[in-house]
Amino acid sequence: MEKSEELLECSRAWIELDLQALEHNVEELTKVISIHQIMAVVKANAYGHGMIEIAKKLEQIGINNYAVATLEEGIHLRKGGIKGNILILGYTPIEHLSLVITYDLIQTIVDYSYAKKIDALSLDKKIKAEIKVNTGMNRLGETINHIDKMKEMYTIKNLDVVGIFSHFASADSMIDEDIQFSKQQIREFEQVVDMLKHDGYKVGRVHLQSSYGLLNYASFRGDFARIGIILYGVHSSIEVTPSIELNLKPVLSIKARIASVKTILENTSVSYGRTFIAKKPMTIATITIGYADGIPRCLSSKEVYVKVKDKFARVIGRICMDQMMIDVSDIPMVSQGDVVEIIGKDALISCEYLAYQAETITNELLCRLGTRLPRVIKKQ
Ligand SMILES: *Cc1c(COP(=O)(O)O)cnc(C)c1O
Repeated sequence: MEKSEELLECSRAWIELDLQALEHNVEELTKVISIHQIMAVVKANAYGHGMIEIAKKLEQIGINNYAVATLEEGIHLRKGGIKGNILILGYTPIEHLSLVITYDLIQTIVDYSYAKKIDALSLDKKIKAEIKVNTGMNRLGETINHIDKMKEMYTIKNLDVVGIFSHFASADSMIDEDIQFSKQQIREFEQVVDMLKHDGYKVGRVHLQSSYGLLNYASFRGDFARIGIILYGVHSSIEVTPSIELNLKPVLSIKARIASVKTILENTSVSYGRTFIAKKPMTIATITIGYADGIPRCLSSKEVYVKVKDKFARVIGRICMDQMMIDVSDIPMVSQGDVVEIIGKDALISCEYLAYQAETITNELLCRLGTRLPRVIKKQ
């Protein structure tokens, strides 16, 4: 890359990826499962991190199994040079299934009727697929007691069934009723797998847990755990603590610039809607990031901070599409062009804290980060 282009990436607002932290998180995970049991969930552009940057690093570390949500994401991974197994977790329209073969992907069989439609196709190669079993999420999957239908899926001429899996509905919950429900899901899934095995079916890869499924129900032994959010070094929420606590390091941080610094008088309003009125004279700064970059507008007037010169400055007034304002009254020497950290490793600017203030989970906050933010790999 040309020097000037490299400079351009850090000109306004950008995502910085700490790939060392990613490697650290994988190491932490190997306290619970082996590296070969990690199915890295890299859907939604690797939770906003950048799918290829993340998958390349994971491949280098030795991870060979990936999950994505869509056919397009699977193709994107392959075109990015990823060689391992790629499972599409979601529905792919029947008329697009030939691309699953072309790009050597694995399609989820969302239910029996989907399998029958595949059976009716004329294909010159089998589609690699995994059976989804519905154990209580009630989103995708064949009903647990339809064992005969699942057996039939294993015999369909157009299908090469290489696995079977299910998904927890509330693996993160600490409420007893939810825990009982999750345990029931485990029992029922195990029963399905055992029955199929007992009747001589080669079930293939068996998996059930996602991040919280692994951390709260580690005793379930599958061939894989589908790990998304914790791979990126953040918990979904600060409101629940999983049974196994790993020392995770966030992979992503977001940086922007100070565009302008000004002093304002008492009773001056700041930003759209004039929701913020200065109670005293202040020094404020405008920074080069806004809700088009994925900073939720609903954080306006919440207690939210950014980091400037190793201090924390509160966000004031409405967050705009491309800019937002902060109070730098107590931070000396803030000047135009300075770099500001919006999301980072400190608790006050952590993704978890921002998600909490935005009344959502980190998964949503991260995957909604704006496409116009360039990704820069942190130099180690
Ligand atoms: C997104 C997803 C995951 C990963 O979930 P995390 O909580 O981010 O680990 C696993 N399995 C399925 C079916 C998913 O849709």
